[in-house]
Amino acid sequence: MSVANGSPYDENNIFARILRGEIPAKKVYEDDYAFAFHDINPQAPVHVLVIPKGPYVSMADFTANASDALVSGFFRAVGEVARQLGLEEDGYRILANAGINSHQEVPHLHVHIFAGRPLGPMLSRGM
Ligand code: AMP
Repeated sequence: MSVANGSPYDENNIFARILRGEIPAKKVYEDDYAFAFHDINPQAPVHVLVIPKGPYVSMADFTANASDALVSGFFRAVGEVARQLGLEEDGYRILANAGINSHQEVPHLHVHIFAGRPLGPMLSRGM
């Protein structure tokens, strides 16, 4: 069983429900390893989420516990989404939150892809 931050994977988190088709999503890309869809509350003109097809909470959980095929397939999918959306020329940012300090809201590993405008500094300076 996958565990992150001391908690087991929650099978009813919203992205697990999207993967099971219980909740609609605006699909961008899908293969055997990954599913990509538009963020419901976009923070940039392009804001897409890419999630692995497996029960993993964080990047650390995923890379420790998923198969090599799923890990490589997922990262290939992230790059494929950027290519298919035509983001290589003007650029984009990839971000994955994990745990409390990053304000991870959904406990299923997801990579954000932001693009479509200059994205500003990498981190806010609110220290
Ligand atoms: P994070 O803070 O990294 O966990 O990001 C979670 C992201 O999921 C946020 O950007 C939300 O807007 C997005 N989100 C939450 N529910 C949905 C949904 N049903 N469909 C698409 N995106 C969602």
